[in-house]
Amino acid sequence: MALHLSERGAGEVVVLERTGIGAGASGVQPGGVRQQWGTRVNCLLARESVGFYGELVERLEARVDPHFRACGYVFLAHSEPALAQLGANVELQNGLGIPSRVLSPIEAAERVEGLVADSLTGAAVCEEDGYFDRPQAVVEAFAEAARRSGVRVERRGVRSLARDGAAWSIDGTLLAGQVVVAAGYDTPALLGPLGVDLPIRREARFLFLGEPVPERLLEPLVVSPERRFAAKQLADGRLLASDLGASGDPATERERWRARIKELITDLLPPLEFVPLPRLVEGLYDVTPDHQAAIGPVAGHEGLFVAAGFSGHGFMIAPAVGRGVAAMVLGEEPGEPFAALGPERFATGALVPEPQIV
Ligand SMILES: Cc1cc2nc3c(=O)[nH]c(=O)nc-3n(C[C@H](O)[C@H](O)[C@H](O)COP(=O)(O)OP(=O)(O)OC[C@H]3O[C@@H](n4cnc5c(N)ncnc54)[C@H](O)[C@@H]3O)c2cc1C
Repeated sequence: MALHLSERGAGEVVVLERTGIGAGASGVQPGGVRQQWGTRVNCLLARESVGFYGELVERLEARVDPHFRACGYVFLAHSEPALAQLGANVELQNGLGIPSRVLSPIEAAERVEGLVADSLTGAAVCEEDGYFDRPQAVVEAFAEAARRSGVRVERRGVRSLARDGAAWSIDGTLLAGQVVVAAGYDTPALLGPLGVDLPIRREARFLFLGEPVPERLLEPLVVSPERRFAAKQLADGRLLASDLGASGDPATERERWRARIKELITDLLPPLEFVPLPRLVEGLYDVTPDHQAAIGPVAGHEGLFVAAGFSGHGFMIAPAVGRGVAAMVLGEEPGEPFAALGPERFATGALVPEPQIV
């Protein structure tokens, strides 16, 4: 959003970052970008962002091409209700121009080489979904483009925000006309003292990583929401697999999680059975009650905005969110998806539950 603001001539734009660009979830995420969502807001944000990402290298003058690999995402259903939900989501997506489709178990097995389809009722796929080979290069490209356009990035941990006349005082030392709090799971700690209660909680996520394997063993990304399992093979040949339900202390639980992933692989994707998964990567989601970000002005606090609580999908919708938040700060209408995502919805109960989460 700093880039959009600066490009649009918003005056002096300063990013205050406690640790460094990509220090939070943005530096951990493996670059997944999908348009298969179950709410209109996410479909719209994802579709707009995919358009931006398609032109990323030229648009941001990126030094390194992060290379987007449209390998497709395949969501598996193991029950009739899960298949009905995928079907409803595909209908919504198709109505918004997203080229997803429902697959029979046989079609799913044809699409995913080696997939055991016995337990499936069906699946859904979007061939435009995929991932960046170098997701951190995307984050860096945004930061560099912002700096080039005049944004100042200052390494500084913000402790407090307070209204000071017509401006916002940051830690009592810096004045800003408008402030956007986009501090991931730390956002509530900054807004709480202002009387703003934002229900964003941390949720640990664990990814297991293998060593590079020369053969292509898995082409699309495969997700089984019911079995709480996801796997993909990265461009460098490493397998990435996740027990999406894993919770607890990795020191004591990691072997149990690894064993569960191995079991799921044996059941669903036996060609991956003998790929070791030696490394465990931990990251933190910033999760809201409806698994949608809180984006918009903070009611009763003029000039204060929030963009946080991305619930595990902030990277893929970042281009649209950046544009939308910049528009809000400039006093413009940001577009349809933002109307439903304001932070006041948690108090009013106007939640927008996203059913297709990972
Ligand atoms: C394991 C994992 C896998 C994921 N996979 C995907 C994926 O495939 N696709 C996808 O779209 N999304 C994915 N996500 C989610 C995605 O990474 C996040 O939604 C996104 O990065 C959120 O960006 P953000 O800028 O809001 O937060 P962050 O990247 O967490 O940035 C918040 C920043 O705020 C700074 N900060 C905090 N408090 C202060 C303070 N007081 N003062 C100054 N600075 C402060 C932090 O240092 C941090 O750098 C994944 C997340 C995880 C953890």
